[in-house]
Amino acid sequence: MDVITDSVLEQVAHDVVTCRRCPRLVEWREEAARRPPRRFAGCTYWARPVPGFGDPRARVMIVGLAPAAHGGNRTGRIFTGDRSGDWLFAALYRAGFANQPTSVARGDGLQLRDLYVTAVVRCAPPGNRPRSDERDNCLPFLVRELSGLPQARVVVCLGAFAWDGAMRALAELGHRMSPRPRFGHLAEAEIGPYRLLGSYHPSQQNTFTGKVTAAMLDAVFARARRLAGGQAPIESDCPGAGRT
Ligand code: SF4
Repeated sequence: MDVITDSVLEQVAHDVVTCRRCPRLVEWREEAARRPPRRFAGCTYWARPVPGFGDPRARVMIVGLAPAAHGGNRTGRIFTGDRSGDWLFAALYRAGFANQPTSVARGDGLQLRDLYVTAVVRCAPPGNRPRSDERDNCLPFLVRELSGLPQARVVVCLGAFAWDGAMRALAELGHRMSPRPRFGHLAEAEIGPYRLLGSYHPSQQNTFTGKVTAAMLDAVFARARRLAGGQAPIESDCPGAGRT
């Protein structure tokens, strides 16, 4: 089963990084690489769609909005190299889902355990606002990732866009809830075999203003751990699990 699952996720990752379905986002992700801010001048950007990554045996999945133009779009790994990621991976480390508190580049030694991280949209959008047609173009990748994570039961949605995208992906898998549950911090919804768990996004705006605090993220991941059934299964603790 693990080999099959790994190959499903690898195929999804391959299809993601070669995708050019949304002309506006292709132009934006490549333009960001051509015109980096001064702090990233001289950096070689990924400038392609950013795949999900993590433990193929994960019981917990994190869904974000999209890569940041000078974060994931630069480093090639979601939530890596930007302020949101600084907050997120520090929280994941405290919760025991990550082996280190920072995520700065592919190949930096980060390993995720019992956790997979992805996004609704895989290309950096202007103003962090993908259009609905771009979301719909990209949604099949999330559906396939859910299918490729047979042990996933908890979907942590960072922000309302991710909450909506996760519900759309679950609907594609035949899991619907009516009326649709409302997003909120620590909001929960049981949809088919999955439990959706809402969290405010650790965006720079939210963390600067105190709308999101470290304690609030800790509460989310402690709850995710409980919903998943406690500590990660021992077989998930393998060398190299979720490394990218
Ligand atoms: S947003 Fe998704 S569907 Fe659109 S080009 Fe990027 S990877 Fe492809």
